[in-house]
Amino acid sequence: MASTNLEGGCLCGALRYRLNGKRIDAGYCHCRLCQRSSGAPVMAWATFAAADFSYTQGTPAVYRSSANGLREFCPVCGTQLIFRRPSETTVDVTMASLDEATAIAPEYHIWTASRIAWFDTLDDLPRHADAGPDESV
Ligand SMILES: [Zn+2]
Ligand SMILES: [Zn+2]
Repeated sequence: MASTNLEGGCLCGALRYRLNGKRIDAGYCHCRLCQRSSGAPVMAWATFAAADFSYTQGTPAVYRSSANGLREFCPVCGTQLIFRRPSETTVDVTMASLDEATAIAPEYHIWTASRIAWFDTLDDLPRHADAGPDESV
């Protein structure tokens, strides 16, 4: 469901953020970039208007993971918090970094073509082999 005034941050606490608006959507991403950048089989992202996101503490390090994609993470502990394309007006927030991690639930899967065979979730959510209709991540 839509949420407002959510907060979250990295593992060590150096980076904190606040979300002041409603999420646009949320889903799992099984792409290789998410896998390699997190070291985990899947990442869960919630999309917000960039204007609804702000850091309240700390300054992230930024890694350009693709031609148009920037990943923002804590320079101290490495937690990844944000994916954004400078050409777009949205940001994707790592849902597991929310203080209230159950505040938003995934609604779909994308890039299942690169899903790791030993990992799966028990759900009936829509699954897209590629970026899907929204091209969210
Ligand atoms: Zn940190
Ligand atoms: Zn991804």
